[in-house]
Amino acid sequence: ISVADLVEESLKRIGETDGKIEAFLAVDEEGARKQAAKLDSSGEERGLLFGLPAGIKDNIVTEGLRTTCASRFLANYDPIYDATVIQKLRQAQSVTMGKLNMDEFAMGGSNENSAFHPTRNPWDLERVPGGSSGGSAASVAAGQVYFSLGSDTGGSIRQPAAYCGIVGLKPTYGLVSRYGLVAFASSLDQIGPLTKNVEDAAYVLQAIAGHDSRDSTSANVDIPDYVSALTGDVKGLRIGVPKEYMGQGIDPQVKERVLEALRTFEAMGAVWEEISLPHSEYAVASYYLLASSEASSNLARFDGVRYGVRAEDPANLLDLYRRSRSEGFGTEVKRRIMLGTYALSSGYYDAYYKKAQQVRTLIKRDFDQAFEKYDLIVSPTVPTTAFKIGEQVNDPLTMYLNDICTIPVNLAGVPAISVPCGLADGLPVGLQLIGKPFDERTVLRAAHAFE
Ligand code: GLN
Repeated sequence: ISVADLVEESLKRIGETDGKIEAFLAVDEEGARKQAAKLDSSGEERGLLFGLPAGIKDNIVTEGLRTTCASRFLANYDPIYDATVIQKLRQAQSVTMGKLNMDEFAMGGSNENSAFHPTRNPWDLERVPGGSSGGSAASVAAGQVYFSLGSDTGGSIRQPAAYCGIVGLKPTYGLVSRYGLVAFASSLDQIGPLTKNVEDAAYVLQAIAGHDSRDSTSANVDIPDYVSALTGDVKGLRIGVPKEYMGQGIDPQVKERVLEALRTFEAMGAVWEEISLPHSEYAVASYYLLASSEASSNLARFDGVRYGVRAEDPANLLDLYRRSRSEGFGTEVKRRIMLGTYALSSGYYDAYYKKAQQVRTLIKRDFDQAFEKYDLIVSPTVPTTAFKIGEQVNDPLTMYLNDICTIPVNLAGVPAISVPCGLADGLPVGLQLIGKPFDERTVLRAAHAFE
Protein backbone atom coordinates (compact mmCIF):
# COMPACT_ATOMS: atom_id res chain seq x y z
CA ILE A 1 0.00 0.00 0.00
CA SER A 2 1.41 3.36 -1.07
CA VAL A 3 1.06 6.84 0.41
CA ALA A 4 -0.92 7.74 -2.69
CA ASP A 5 -3.42 5.00 -1.76
CA LEU A 6 -3.77 6.39 1.76
CA VAL A 7 -4.31 9.89 0.44
CA GLU A 8 -6.89 8.73 -2.12
CA GLU A 9 -8.69 6.79 0.61
CA SER A 10 -8.75 9.90 2.80
CA LEU A 11 -10.00 12.08 -0.08
CA LYS A 12 -12.70 9.53 -0.84
CA ARG A 13 -13.82 9.43 2.76
CA ILE A 14 -13.87 13.23 2.92
CA GLY A 15 -15.90 13.28 -0.29
CA GLU A 16 -18.42 10.80 1.13
CA THR A 17 -18.86 12.32 4.57
CA ASP A 18 -17.97 15.99 4.59
CA GLY A 19 -21.16 17.14 2.89
CA LYS A 20 -22.87 16.21 6.15
CA ILE A 21 -20.18 16.82 8.75
CA GLU A 22 -18.51 19.91 7.28
CA ALA A 23 -15.31 19.46 9.24
CA PHE A 24 -13.13 21.00 6.54
CA LEU A 25 -12.77 24.63 5.58
CA ALA A 26 -10.37 23.75 2.78
CA VAL A 27 -9.28 20.40 1.35
CA ASP A 28 -5.85 20.62 -0.26
CA GLU A 29 -6.32 17.87 -2.81
CA GLU A 30 -3.52 18.96 -5.07
CA GLY A 31 -1.03 19.56 -2.27
CA ALA A 32 -1.82 16.22 -0.62
CA ARG A 33 -1.37 14.30 -3.88
CA LYS A 34 1.92 16.08 -4.51
CA GLN A 35 3.19 15.25 -1.01
CA ALA A 36 2.13 11.63 -1.49
CA ALA A 37 3.95 11.30 -4.80
CA LYS A 38 7.06 12.81 -3.26
CA LEU A 39 6.99 10.41 -0.31
CA ASP A 40 6.32 7.40 -2.51
CA SER A 41 9.30 8.16 -4.71
CA SER A 42 11.76 9.19 -2.00
CA GLY A 43 14.34 6.69 -0.90
CA GLU A 44 14.84 8.41 2.46
CA GLU A 45 14.44 6.64 5.73
CA ARG A 46 10.79 6.73 6.80
CA GLY A 47 9.67 9.41 9.24
CA LEU A 48 7.70 8.76 12.42
CA LEU A 49 4.34 9.56 10.80
CA PHE A 50 5.21 8.40 7.30
CA GLY A 51 2.34 8.77 4.88
CA LEU A 52 -0.40 9.42 7.43
CA PRO A 53 -3.16 11.79 6.26
CA ALA A 54 -3.53 14.65 8.75
CA GLY A 55 -5.93 17.54 9.24
CA ILE A 56 -4.86 20.89 10.67
CA LYS A 57 -6.95 23.31 12.72
CA ASP A 58 -7.33 26.51 10.79
CA ASN A 59 -5.53 28.70 13.33
CA ILE A 60 -2.20 27.00 12.58
CA VAL A 61 -0.50 28.77 9.69
CA THR A 62 0.37 26.80 6.57
CA GLU A 63 2.47 28.35 3.83
CA GLY A 64 0.37 29.12 0.77
CA LEU A 65 -2.62 27.29 2.22
CA ARG A 66 -5.43 29.59 3.33
CA THR A 67 -5.61 30.05 7.10
CA THR A 68 -8.77 31.79 8.23
CA CYS A 69 -9.20 31.01 11.95
CA ALA A 70 -12.82 30.57 10.79
CA SER A 71 -13.09 34.36 10.75
CA ARG A 72 -14.33 36.67 8.03
CA PHE A 73 -11.38 38.85 8.98
CA LEU A 74 -8.91 36.33 7.56
CA ALA A 75 -11.13 35.00 4.77
CA ASN A 76 -8.41 35.85 2.23
CA TYR A 77 -5.26 35.24 4.28
CA ASP A 78 -2.59 33.03 2.68
CA PRO A 79 0.36 32.72 5.08
CA ILE A 80 3.89 33.08 3.80
CA TYR A 81 5.39 30.62 6.28
CA ASP A 82 4.69 27.35 8.06
CA ALA A 83 4.12 27.03 11.80
CA THR A 84 6.84 25.06 13.59
CA VAL A 85 4.45 22.14 14.13
CA ILE A 86 3.82 22.02 10.37
CA GLN A 87 7.55 21.89 9.69
CA LYS A 88 7.83 19.11 12.23
CA LEU A 89 5.00 17.16 10.65
CA ARG A 90 6.77 17.52 7.33
CA GLN A 91 9.94 16.06 8.87
CA ALA A 92 7.86 13.23 10.30
CA GLN A 93 6.40 12.79 6.78
CA SER A 94 2.68 12.97 7.41
CA VAL A 95 0.49 14.41 4.65
CA THR A 96 -1.59 17.55 5.22
CA MET A 97 -5.07 17.00 3.79
CA GLY A 98 -6.41 20.46 4.56
CA LYS A 99 -7.64 22.91 7.15
CA LEU A 100 -10.31 22.19 9.73
CA ASN A 101 -13.20 24.23 11.03
CA MET A 102 -13.21 25.81 14.48
CA ASP A 103 -14.84 28.50 16.55
CA GLU A 104 -13.67 31.89 15.32
CA PHE A 105 -10.18 32.57 16.71
CA ALA A 106 -10.68 29.49 18.96
CA MET A 107 -13.28 31.31 21.06
CA GLY A 108 -16.06 28.88 21.83
CA GLY A 109 -16.89 25.30 22.59
CA SER A 110 -19.29 24.16 19.88
CA ASN A 111 -18.02 25.28 16.45
CA GLU A 112 -21.14 27.42 16.17
CA ASN A 113 -18.90 30.50 16.32
CA SER A 114 -17.30 29.64 12.99
CA ALA A 115 -18.01 32.52 10.61
CA PHE A 116 -18.57 30.02 7.79
CA HIS A 117 -20.66 27.08 9.02
CA PRO A 118 -20.99 24.83 12.04
CA THR A 119 -19.42 21.37 12.00
CA ARG A 120 -21.64 18.45 12.99
CA ASN A 121 -20.91 15.63 15.40
CA PRO A 122 -20.46 12.34 13.48
CA TRP A 123 -22.26 10.47 16.31
CA ASP A 124 -25.41 12.55 15.84
CA LEU A 125 -25.62 15.18 13.12
CA GLU A 126 -28.04 17.26 15.20
CA ARG A 127 -25.38 17.77 17.81
CA VAL A 128 -22.25 19.92 18.11
CA PRO A 129 -18.83 18.29 17.84
CA GLY A 130 -17.59 20.56 20.64
CA GLY A 131 -14.97 23.19 20.18
CA SER A 132 -13.09 25.12 19.48
CA SER A 133 -11.19 22.30 17.69
CA GLY A 134 -14.51 20.77 16.59
CA GLY A 135 -13.45 20.24 12.98
CA SER A 136 -10.30 18.49 14.19
CA ALA A 137 -12.29 16.11 16.40
CA ALA A 138 -15.12 15.41 13.94
CA SER A 139 -12.68 14.73 11.13
CA VAL A 140 -10.82 12.05 13.09
CA ALA A 141 -14.04 10.57 14.46
CA ALA A 142 -15.47 10.30 10.94
CA GLY A 143 -12.34 8.57 9.66
CA GLN A 144 -11.51 11.35 7.18
CA VAL A 145 -7.96 11.74 8.44
CA TYR A 146 -5.68 9.59 10.55
CA PHE A 147 -5.00 12.32 13.09
CA SER A 148 -5.38 16.05 13.45
CA LEU A 149 -3.86 18.96 15.29
CA GLY A 150 -5.91 21.25 17.47
CA SER A 151 -5.21 23.99 19.98
CA ASP A 152 -6.31 24.13 23.59
CA THR A 153 -6.62 27.37 25.57
CA GLY A 154 -9.31 26.28 28.03
CA GLY A 155 -10.29 22.83 26.80
CA SER A 156 -10.50 23.14 23.04
CA ILE A 157 -8.72 19.86 22.31
CA ARG A 158 -10.08 17.76 25.18
CA GLN A 159 -13.72 18.85 25.10
CA PRO A 160 -14.33 18.11 21.38
CA ALA A 161 -12.36 14.86 21.73
CA ALA A 162 -14.74 13.87 24.54
CA TYR A 163 -17.85 14.84 22.55
CA CYS A 164 -16.65 12.92 19.47
CA GLY A 165 -15.43 9.80 21.29
CA ILE A 166 -11.74 10.14 20.44
CA VAL A 167 -8.46 10.94 22.23
CA GLY A 168 -7.25 14.53 22.68
CA LEU A 169 -4.06 15.62 24.42
CA LYS A 170 -3.16 19.06 25.71
CA PRO A 171 0.58 19.03 26.39
CA THR A 172 2.32 20.92 29.20
CA TYR A 173 2.50 24.63 28.44
CA GLY A 174 5.77 25.21 26.57
CA LEU A 175 6.28 21.64 25.35
CA VAL A 176 5.02 22.30 21.81
CA SER A 177 6.01 25.46 19.95
CA ARG A 178 3.33 28.07 19.43
CA TYR A 179 5.23 29.69 16.57
CA GLY A 180 2.69 30.02 13.78
CA LEU A 181 -0.34 29.40 15.98
CA VAL A 182 -2.56 32.46 15.67
CA ALA A 183 -2.58 33.68 19.27
CA PHE A 184 -5.78 33.74 21.31
CA ALA A 185 -4.49 33.83 24.91
CA SER A 186 -0.75 33.36 24.71
CA SER A 187 -0.18 32.28 28.31
CA LEU A 188 -2.69 29.43 27.92
CA ASP A 189 -2.58 28.29 24.27
CA GLN A 190 -1.03 24.91 23.45
CA ILE A 191 -1.13 22.80 20.28
CA GLY A 192 -1.78 19.08 20.61
CA PRO A 193 -2.97 15.93 18.81
CA LEU A 194 -6.46 14.50 18.33
CA THR A 195 -6.32 10.80 17.51
CA LYS A 196 -8.27 7.54 17.49
CA ASN A 197 -6.21 6.04 20.28
CA VAL A 198 -3.54 6.83 22.86
CA GLU A 199 -0.67 5.22 20.99
CA ASP A 200 -1.27 7.53 18.04
CA ALA A 201 -1.31 10.50 20.41
CA ALA A 202 2.10 9.43 21.73
CA TYR A 203 3.50 9.25 18.20
CA VAL A 204 2.15 12.62 17.14
CA LEU A 205 3.37 14.25 20.36
CA GLN A 206 6.79 12.72 19.75
CA ALA A 207 6.84 14.38 16.35
CA ILE A 208 5.71 17.87 17.39
CA ALA A 209 7.27 18.39 20.86
CA GLY A 210 10.54 20.19 21.40
CA HIS A 211 12.27 23.48 22.04
CA ASP A 212 11.92 26.25 19.47
CA SER A 213 13.93 29.46 19.65
CA ARG A 214 11.15 31.25 17.74
CA ASP A 215 8.73 30.83 20.65
CA SER A 216 10.04 32.63 23.72
CA THR A 217 7.80 30.54 26.00
CA SER A 218 9.03 27.26 24.54
CA ALA A 219 10.58 25.08 27.24
CA ASN A 220 14.14 23.93 26.83
CA VAL A 221 13.67 20.39 28.11
CA ASP A 222 14.77 16.98 26.88
CA ILE A 223 12.02 15.18 25.03
CA PRO A 224 11.57 11.67 26.41
CA ASP A 225 10.36 8.67 24.44
CA TYR A 226 6.58 8.78 24.74
CA VAL A 227 5.79 5.58 22.91
CA SER A 228 7.92 3.43 25.22
CA ALA A 229 5.87 4.73 28.16
CA LEU A 230 2.89 2.68 26.99
CA THR A 231 3.60 -0.40 29.07
CA GLY A 232 0.05 -1.22 30.10
CA ASP A 233 1.14 -1.16 33.73
CA VAL A 234 -0.43 1.17 36.30
CA LYS A 235 0.30 -0.83 39.43
CA GLY A 236 0.81 1.44 42.43
CA LEU A 237 -0.25 4.56 40.53
CA ARG A 238 -1.77 7.10 42.95
CA ILE A 239 -4.83 8.91 41.60
CA GLY A 240 -6.53 11.93 43.15
CA VAL A 241 -10.14 12.67 42.24
CA PRO A 242 -11.11 16.27 42.99
CA LYS A 243 -14.55 16.45 44.59
CA GLU A 244 -15.09 19.84 42.94
CA TYR A 245 -15.08 18.09 39.54
CA MET A 246 -17.55 15.40 40.52
CA GLY A 247 -20.25 17.47 42.18
CA GLN A 248 -22.78 20.05 41.09
CA GLY A 249 -23.53 20.30 37.39
CA ILE A 250 -22.00 16.94 36.46
CA ASP A 251 -24.51 14.75 34.66
CA PRO A 252 -25.21 11.64 36.80
CA GLN A 253 -24.47 9.27 33.90
CA VAL A 254 -21.17 11.00 33.19
CA LYS A 255 -20.27 10.70 36.85
CA GLU A 256 -21.17 7.00 36.80
CA ARG A 257 -18.87 6.39 33.78
CA VAL A 258 -16.01 8.10 35.62
CA LEU A 259 -16.59 6.00 38.74
CA GLU A 260 -16.55 2.87 36.57
CA ALA A 261 -13.26 4.02 35.08
CA LEU A 262 -11.84 4.46 38.57
CA ARG A 263 -12.90 0.92 39.43
CA THR A 264 -11.09 -0.28 36.30
CA PHE A 265 -7.95 1.51 37.46
CA GLU A 266 -8.37 -0.08 40.88
CA ALA A 267 -8.66 -3.52 39.31
CA MET A 268 -5.38 -2.84 37.49
CA GLY A 269 -3.61 -2.08 40.76
CA ALA A 270 -3.86 1.70 40.97
CA VAL A 271 -5.25 3.42 44.05
CA TRP A 272 -7.53 6.44 44.19
CA GLU A 273 -8.86 8.87 46.74
CA GLU A 274 -11.08 11.87 46.78
CA ILE A 275 -9.12 15.12 47.03
CA SER A 276 -9.89 18.82 47.01
CA LEU A 277 -8.67 21.56 44.69
CA PRO A 278 -10.32 24.32 46.71
CA HIS A 279 -9.83 27.21 44.28
CA SER A 280 -11.47 25.41 41.36
CA GLU A 281 -14.71 27.30 41.79
CA TYR A 282 -12.98 30.53 40.72
CA ALA A 283 -11.29 29.02 37.66
CA VAL A 284 -13.94 29.80 35.06
CA ALA A 285 -14.33 33.41 36.20
CA SER A 286 -10.60 34.08 36.26
CA TYR A 287 -10.09 32.29 32.93
CA TYR A 288 -12.64 34.45 31.13
CA LEU A 289 -10.99 37.58 32.47
CA LEU A 290 -7.44 36.49 31.65
CA ALA A 291 -8.16 34.85 28.30
CA SER A 292 -10.26 37.81 27.17
CA SER A 293 -7.62 40.30 28.33
CA GLU A 294 -4.92 38.53 26.37
CA ALA A 295 -7.23 38.18 23.39
CA SER A 296 -8.04 41.89 23.36
CA SER A 297 -4.32 42.59 23.14
CA ASN A 298 -3.50 39.82 20.64
CA LEU A 299 -6.35 40.71 18.32
CA ALA A 300 -5.30 44.37 18.16
CA ARG A 301 -3.11 43.35 15.21
CA PHE A 302 -6.21 42.85 13.08
CA ASP A 303 -6.65 46.45 12.03
CA GLY A 304 -7.50 46.15 8.35
CA VAL A 305 -3.99 47.25 7.39
CA ARG A 306 -1.63 44.36 7.93
CA TYR A 307 -3.63 41.18 7.55
CA GLY A 308 -6.79 39.98 5.97
CA VAL A 309 -9.86 41.89 5.00
CA ARG A 310 -9.97 45.68 4.75
CA ALA A 311 -13.15 47.75 4.80
CA GLU A 312 -13.85 49.43 1.48
CA ASP A 313 -13.67 53.20 0.88
CA PRO A 314 -12.72 54.28 4.39
CA ALA A 315 -13.24 57.96 5.16
CA ASN A 316 -10.06 58.08 7.28
CA LEU A 317 -7.77 55.84 9.32
CA LEU A 318 -10.10 55.56 12.29
CA ASP A 319 -12.98 54.67 10.02
CA LEU A 320 -10.79 51.99 8.41
CA TYR A 321 -10.01 50.41 11.78
CA ARG A 322 -13.56 50.67 13.04
CA ARG A 323 -15.27 49.26 10.00
CA SER A 324 -12.70 46.54 9.30
CA ARG A 325 -13.10 45.30 12.87
CA SER A 326 -16.88 45.73 12.99
CA GLU A 327 -17.33 43.82 9.75
CA GLY A 328 -14.52 41.29 10.23
CA PHE A 329 -15.16 39.96 13.75
CA GLY A 330 -18.13 37.89 14.89
CA THR A 331 -20.23 38.43 18.02
CA GLU A 332 -18.29 36.21 20.43
CA VAL A 333 -14.95 37.70 19.41
CA LYS A 334 -16.30 41.21 19.92
CA ARG A 335 -17.71 40.22 23.30
CA ARG A 336 -14.29 39.00 24.43
CA ILE A 337 -12.42 42.01 23.07
CA MET A 338 -14.76 44.33 24.96
CA LEU A 339 -14.57 42.29 28.16
CA GLY A 340 -10.78 42.09 27.95
CA THR A 341 -10.29 45.73 27.13
CA TYR A 342 -12.48 46.66 30.07
CA ALA A 343 -10.60 44.36 32.46
CA LEU A 344 -7.27 45.83 31.39
CA SER A 345 -8.28 49.49 31.51
CA SER A 346 -6.85 51.67 34.25
CA GLY A 347 -9.15 51.78 37.25
CA TYR A 348 -10.35 48.23 36.61
CA TYR A 349 -7.02 46.50 36.14
CA ASP A 350 -6.43 45.92 39.86
CA ALA A 351 -10.00 44.85 40.52
CA TYR A 352 -10.23 42.34 37.66
CA TYR A 353 -7.07 41.47 35.77
CA LYS A 354 -4.72 41.50 38.73
CA LYS A 355 -7.13 39.62 40.94
CA ALA A 356 -7.62 36.98 38.24
CA GLN A 357 -3.84 36.57 38.03
CA GLN A 358 -3.68 36.05 41.79
CA VAL A 359 -6.42 33.44 41.62
CA ARG A 360 -4.49 31.74 38.84
CA THR A 361 -1.52 31.38 41.18
CA LEU A 362 -3.73 29.84 43.86
CA ILE A 363 -5.12 27.35 41.35
CA LYS A 364 -1.61 26.43 40.27
CA ARG A 365 -0.71 25.87 43.93
CA ASP A 366 -3.69 23.56 44.42
CA PHE A 367 -2.26 21.37 41.66
CA ASP A 368 1.32 21.55 43.01
CA GLN A 369 0.10 20.39 46.41
CA ALA A 370 -2.01 17.58 44.98
CA PHE A 371 0.91 16.34 42.90
CA GLU A 372 3.05 16.00 46.02
CA LYS A 373 0.83 13.05 46.94
CA TYR A 374 -0.63 11.83 43.66
CA ASP A 375 0.76 10.88 40.25
CA LEU A 376 -2.40 11.73 38.38
CA ILE A 377 -5.63 13.65 38.81
CA VAL A 378 -8.74 12.18 37.21
CA SER A 379 -12.08 13.79 36.39
CA PRO A 380 -14.75 13.93 33.71
CA THR A 381 -13.50 15.95 30.72
CA VAL A 382 -16.84 17.72 30.37
CA PRO A 383 -19.87 17.70 32.70
CA THR A 384 -22.24 16.48 29.97
CA THR A 385 -22.30 14.84 26.54
CA ALA A 386 -22.57 16.77 23.25
CA PHE A 387 -25.53 19.15 23.18
CA LYS A 388 -27.80 20.00 20.26
CA ILE A 389 -26.82 22.60 17.71
CA GLY A 390 -28.51 25.87 18.63
CA GLU A 391 -29.32 24.78 22.19
CA GLN A 392 -26.76 27.01 23.93
CA VAL A 393 -25.83 29.67 21.36
CA ASN A 394 -27.77 32.42 23.06
CA ASP A 395 -26.51 31.56 26.49
CA PRO A 396 -22.78 32.31 26.73
CA LEU A 397 -22.65 31.65 30.47
CA THR A 398 -23.95 28.08 30.16
CA MET A 399 -21.53 27.62 27.30
CA TYR A 400 -18.65 28.88 29.47
CA LEU A 401 -19.51 26.36 32.21
CA ASN A 402 -18.88 23.43 29.85
CA ASP A 403 -15.17 24.07 30.44
CA ILE A 404 -15.30 23.85 34.19
CA CYS A 405 -13.09 20.71 34.35
CA THR A 406 -10.67 21.65 31.58
CA ILE A 407 -9.93 25.33 32.29
CA PRO A 408 -8.02 24.88 35.58
CA VAL A 409 -5.55 22.67 33.69
CA ASN A 410 -4.63 25.50 31.30
CA LEU A 411 -4.38 27.99 34.16
CA ALA A 412 -1.92 25.64 35.89
CA GLY A 413 -0.05 24.85 32.65
CA VAL A 414 -0.11 21.09 33.26
CA PRO A 415 -0.73 18.30 30.70
CA ALA A 416 -4.04 16.46 30.34
CA ILE A 417 -5.62 13.94 28.04
CA SER A 418 -9.22 13.03 27.30
CA VAL A 419 -9.91 9.36 26.55
CA PRO A 420 -13.28 7.80 25.69
CA CYS A 421 -14.92 6.13 28.71
CA GLY A 422 -18.17 4.66 27.53
CA LEU A 423 -21.48 6.15 26.51
CA ALA A 424 -24.33 8.00 28.12
CA ASP A 425 -27.60 7.74 26.17
CA GLY A 426 -25.63 6.61 23.14
CA LEU A 427 -23.20 9.55 23.20
CA PRO A 428 -19.51 9.41 24.10
CA VAL A 429 -18.22 10.40 27.54
CA GLY A 430 -14.65 11.62 28.06
CA LEU A 431 -12.35 10.80 30.98
CA GLN A 432 -9.71 13.43 31.79
CA LEU A 433 -6.30 12.41 33.16
CA ILE A 434 -4.18 15.33 34.40
CA GLY A 435 -0.45 15.00 35.04
CA LYS A 436 2.52 16.80 36.53
CA PRO A 437 4.30 19.36 34.36
CA PHE A 438 6.23 17.60 31.56
CA ASP A 439 5.08 14.20 32.80
CA GLU A 440 3.21 13.31 29.61
CA ARG A 441 4.65 9.82 29.95
CA THR A 442 2.53 9.02 33.00
CA VAL A 443 -0.56 10.61 31.45
CA LEU A 444 -0.13 8.55 28.28
CA ARG A 445 0.73 5.35 30.16
CA ALA A 446 -2.39 5.50 32.31
CA ALA A 447 -4.64 6.51 29.42
CA HIS A 448 -3.26 3.69 27.30
CA ALA A 449 -3.70 1.10 30.06
CA PHE A 450 -7.30 2.24 30.48
CA GLU A 451 -8.55 2.49 26.89
N1 GLN B 1 -14.36 27.11 25.23
C1 GLN B 1 -13.29 27.89 25.79
C2 GLN B 1 -13.40 29.31 25.31
O1 GLN B 1 -14.34 29.60 24.65
C3 GLN B 1 -11.96 27.30 25.43
C4 GLN B 1 -11.50 27.67 24.10
C5 GLN B 1 -10.16 27.10 23.74
O2 GLN B 1 -9.61 26.27 24.46
N2 GLN B 1 -9.61 27.62 22.67
O3 GLN B 1 -12.59 30.14 25.58
